[in-house]
Amino acid sequence: MDVIVIGGGIAGIATAYQLRAAGHRVCVIERHATAAQGATYGHSGVVLPSPLDVWFGPTFMRHRLGAKNGVLRKTGFNRAASSFVRRLNVLHAPTEFSQQYDRLRPLIETAREAMTDIESRFSLEFEQASDLLYLVRGAQEWKLTEPALDLLRQYEIPHQVLSAAQCVELEHAVPAEPDFAGGVRLATERTANCPLFTKLLKLVLDAQGGVQFHFGREVTGLRLESSHAAVELAPRPDEAQRSREVEVIRADAIVIAAGTGSLPLLERHGVRLPLHPLRLHTLVAPIAHEECAPHRTVIDAIKRIAITRMNHRLRIAGAAVLQSAIQTSKPLDPALFEEALALLGQATHDWVPGAAKISAALPWQGVKLLSPDGLPAVGKILHPRLFMNAGHGPAGWGLACGTAKVIAALVSGTTPEVPADTLAALQPERFLPA
Ligand SMILES: Cc1cc2nc3c(=O)[nH]c(=O)nc-3n(C[C@H](O)[C@H](O)[C@H](O)COP(=O)(O)OP(=O)(O)OC[C@H]3O[C@@H](n4cnc5c(N)ncnc54)[C@H](O)[C@@H]3O)c2cc1C
Repeated sequence: MDVIVIGGGIAGIATAYQLRAAGHRVCVIERHATAAQGATYGHSGVVLPSPLDVWFGPTFMRHRLGAKNGVLRKTGFNRAASSFVRRLNVLHAPTEFSQQYDRLRPLIETAREAMTDIESRFSLEFEQASDLLYLVRGAQEWKLTEPALDLLRQYEIPHQVLSAAQCVELEHAVPAEPDFAGGVRLATERTANCPLFTKLLKLVLDAQGGVQFHFGREVTGLRLESSHAAVELAPRPDEAQRSREVEVIRADAIVIAAGTGSLPLLERHGVRLPLHPLRLHTLVAPIAHEECAPHRTVIDAIKRIAITRMNHRLRIAGAAVLQSAIQTSKPLDPALFEEALALLGQATHDWVPGAAKISAALPWQGVKLLSPDGLPAVGKILHPRLFMNAGHGPAGWGLACGTAKVIAALVSGTTPEVPADTLAALQPERFLPA
């Protein structure tokens, strides 16, 4: 079959790879000049979503104060944003949290296997490292991590639960004062460079053939018919004056893997999914004092701020700003931007003081799509020839190689590797009225 993939982030490129591996001819359309320029660019490197860092559950957005939970919530009275938060809050309950993680887990395993397969098949090097240390400040928050610790045990994910003193002994960068509740080490879990992997995989596809890339082209509309599907393209900047004819590319199927750009494409067909855009920030700071730099990735498990060493720099990522979708599509208020960066700076100061030169850090912000039940939207939507692979929230790096495999199976008409209840929980149409 001929398949169009809209989006050249990790989800789009991984989907193109799996579709090609399944024998299809693929055409990737990306509005930027190259791959990995959207949310994929801003990764914090953590390959998992472990039970400790999924963006739902007992510890996620528990407090109203951004300084306490790492999410600056500025939704005002926007109904869609408030309803999004209310739906996520349902997953604060330990039972709901565990059930939702149970549904996600097979996808995590598929994703991990698919990434390892690509990595070894093409001998890719993308700054892989292992060893994560999750830290928790307060005793009450530590108690709230219990359901996540239960899941680590249940899934036999190798981990060590550590007292504060043991954390300090293990990771010399973490200060003993002020006291904190404890930490969890996942020594075998990994960090790696997501945009680098995406670009290397694109090069693999270039070398293999069978995948065409159209960079610098924006999809403005979808045409869905019984015999074929097609996308409409915006004119190239130099064409705008010359031609009024809409350029169209036809195929047998279309996969929307366009990150936050997925929603407007569907809305033009009357489909409104309750996925919500969330702005995130990174600081990339030079190492200030080598003797203070962490030897492993340190993660504030409550604020979900990850501090990862990459070469001579620290990459500090998190500080979400939750606003209405309209506000998120506009430039961020400078005061709020400063507040977000201050959260990242503070987390660095708290957990690895002296390690990074924050005053010389390069800031970045990007928007990712989060679903109100924490799981991505992966599967058929609206029409038999239309598929979606988006809404991975904070875990697109960890999940995309797996969701791509699911999509390739669905497009090919074969049975995806994940169990039926996981597949049902991923269906984008789960959000539509029955
Ligand atoms: C700061 C930050 C830290 C993160 N840390 C982690 C982490 O540690 N671990 C993890 O697993 N995940 C992490 N994530 C999440 C992960 O990066 C995202 O889930 C993932 O990159 C999403 O990939 P994507 O391909 O769906 O979206 P994107 O990378 O946004 O790609 C979508 C692409 O579609 C293109 N596009 C959109 N509309 C159109 C259109 N109409 N026509 C043509 N092209 C279009 C866009 O230009 C874009 O390039 C993080 C995200 C951020 C922002």
